[in-house]
Amino acid sequence: MKEVYRFDSHLLVSGINRLKLLSFPSPLLYLQGLSNELETPIYIKRDDLTELGCGGNKLRKLEYLLAEAKQNEANRIITIGARQSNHARLTAVTAKMMGFDVDLVLKNSVPLDTESYQLNGNLVLDNIVDANIHEIANDGSATTFINNLTKHYETVGDKVYFIPVGGSNTIGGLGYARVVYEIEDQSKDLDVDFKHITLASGSGGTHAGLIAGYEILGKKTFIQAYNVQPDREVILDETKNITEGILNLFDLSMQSQGIEYRLSNDYVGEAYGIPNEQTLQTIKHLAKTEGVFLDPVYTGKAFTGMVEDIKKGRFPKGEPILFIHTGGITGIFGYQNWF
Ligand SMILES: *Cc1c(COP(=O)(O)O)cnc(C)c1O
Repeated sequence: MKEVYRFDSHLLVSGINRLKLLSFPSPLLYLQGLSNELETPIYIKRDDLTELGCGGNKLRKLEYLLAEAKQNEANRIITIGARQSNHARLTAVTAKMMGFDVDLVLKNSVPLDTESYQLNGNLVLDNIVDANIHEIANDGSATTFINNLTKHYETVGDKVYFIPVGGSNTIGGLGYARVVYEIEDQSKDLDVDFKHITLASGSGGTHAGLIAGYEILGKKTFIQAYNVQPDREVILDETKNITEGILNLFDLSMQSQGIEYRLSNDYVGEAYGIPNEQTLQTIKHLAKTEGVFLDPVYTGKAFTGMVEDIKKGRFPKGEPILFIHTGGITGIFGYQNWF
């Protein structure tokens, strides 16, 4: 039996459903120019090209989250994110497709008051699908705001399903445990074996999913995540919790003790949502050498981290590395004046 079927049927038996949003694997490609330049084979998993709503990693999480919302008989989705949240955009698009009403609570957590940051980029797409947008300050009021909003809708008879920031919890993380089978299939076709995977981490769910996925598969793989905001401990705890949550679902809780979590804070820059000069140079360089756009909030920082760590000899020389492109392209248009 194909291993992904075993993964799927285990979850089904446990009462966890998946709503199929994606119908084909995202491309996994070799980056010729950059590999030559760094004398290291570098591949990229184009989850920025996943097929709905301009793509991004949140779609794989939403396959599980929206399935749970349906199962709970919810009719309304509420989620939260930064003003230019890719997660909010993809939640809005896919929830609408599936017939839910959608409320996005968007926090002004990035100190950029340009018109493009406030109104362009993801905001345009959120508005196209008629999501209800609630703008809130970055003053710790989010939980109260969401509780009040939920109560309000419940009193008028709605059933609300809340998705946490980044869609990062055990259920959402399953999307990236499952992607492991897609990566392994594609790497067999390319005749390459990845022991090193790199990615950006924002709320920990993608990182945790990948770690858990390889544990479930039983293949030793180093997952190097690059944090995109200075607070490391909170994200690390979140990552551990989600990893353990997923392993528990597969009765592998014992296995979590030996896991080494790799979350680098070396390339975060000054704050979430603020790229530095090196981030911008990386974005330009990859666009010009490979025709691939990275985003200024997540992948630009993470790709910089991977390249610098290769140069510093932090990856074994000559071993192939797979970078997961988690998306964020539409966010670029919020950063018009930076390029
Ligand atoms: C949300 C996001 C991430 C981070 O994923 P997490 O699961 O929240 O860590 C990375 N890249 C992009 C483009 C994102 O939108």
